[in-house]
Amino acid sequence: MKSVLETIQSGTDYLEARDVPEARLSMEHMLAKVLECKRMDLYLMFDRPLGEVELTPLRDLLKKRGQRVPLQHLLGTVEFCGREFGCDERGLIARSETEELVIEAVRRAKEMSAPLRVLDIGTGSGVIGLSLAAELGDLAEVVVLVDKSADALALASENRERLGLSAEQVVVGESDLLSGDIVAKFAPYDVIVSNPPYIPSGEIAGLQAEVQADPVMALDGGADGLDLVRSILASTPAVLKPHGFIGFELGAGQANEVAEIAHHHGLAETTILGDMAGIDRFVFASRSKS
Ligand code: GLN
Repeated sequence: MKSVLETIQSGTDYLEARDVPEARLSMEHMLAKVLECKRMDLYLMFDRPLGEVELTPLRDLLKKRGQRVPLQHLLGTVEFCGREFGCDERGLIARSETEELVIEAVRRAKEMSAPLRVLDIGTGSGVIGLSLAAELGDLAEVVVLVDKSADALALASENRERLGLSAEQVVVGESDLLSGDIVAKFAPYDVIVSNPPYIPSGEIAGLQAEVQADPVMALDGGADGLDLVRSILASTPAVLKPHGFIGFELGAGQANEVAEIAHHHGLAETTILGDMAGIDRFVFASRSKS
């Protein structure tokens, strides 16, 4: 019978042999799921023997992870801004760099006068808009989450429920970027955020296997990756309050051009922010300093 520690070691070896990134971390998360404990608790039970009832489901997870099924899909959850969200193939897997978009948007929103109207374009699993709703609480009169994918909207609604947020405060609805009736219904907005699809079409085939498990609709930003950003910025002035702001997450090398496009549409006050890896990742834009 193998112990917890031996199982972690052999599973890590198995995953490493298949080039799985962060093999040991993946292995620990999967074992914690099977044992229904926290990953850190494993460190207190290294000698615990594991039986077949535990090893059988673990082998199944290990095999899938070895085939590069994303860890978050196997766990069914992802942690984002300190909260747990449901995660599956219906929406993009939330990434840690996106947390910085939320942190900056919350910081800016708290300096504005409430009640605030907030819009998350291309909400996917809802992590950005739902985190804003949870962080802003009563300051947010309404948070509107839109996506063109019905699957994503179903996942976002489930996550709204998971977080215990109300359907009055957080409205989930279908809209292709800003074109839907639901966007007009609650306009104008104080805060608009988006982590739009921004990968150039030609780069999608070369992405890491786990990223390719995301819906292609959530990744593909057209020839230079900026098709959707251009479209959003062209329609933003019509739905943004005079002192409101829009904040985007972008890919490496896109921020300067996006700031220029924002400028062109009358959003002259732009700020480019880097992520933790030092990549210019976020652009915030508004008409003028409020
Ligand atoms: N807003 C979601 C996220 O950041 C989905 C983004 C997308 O599908 N491009 O995770």
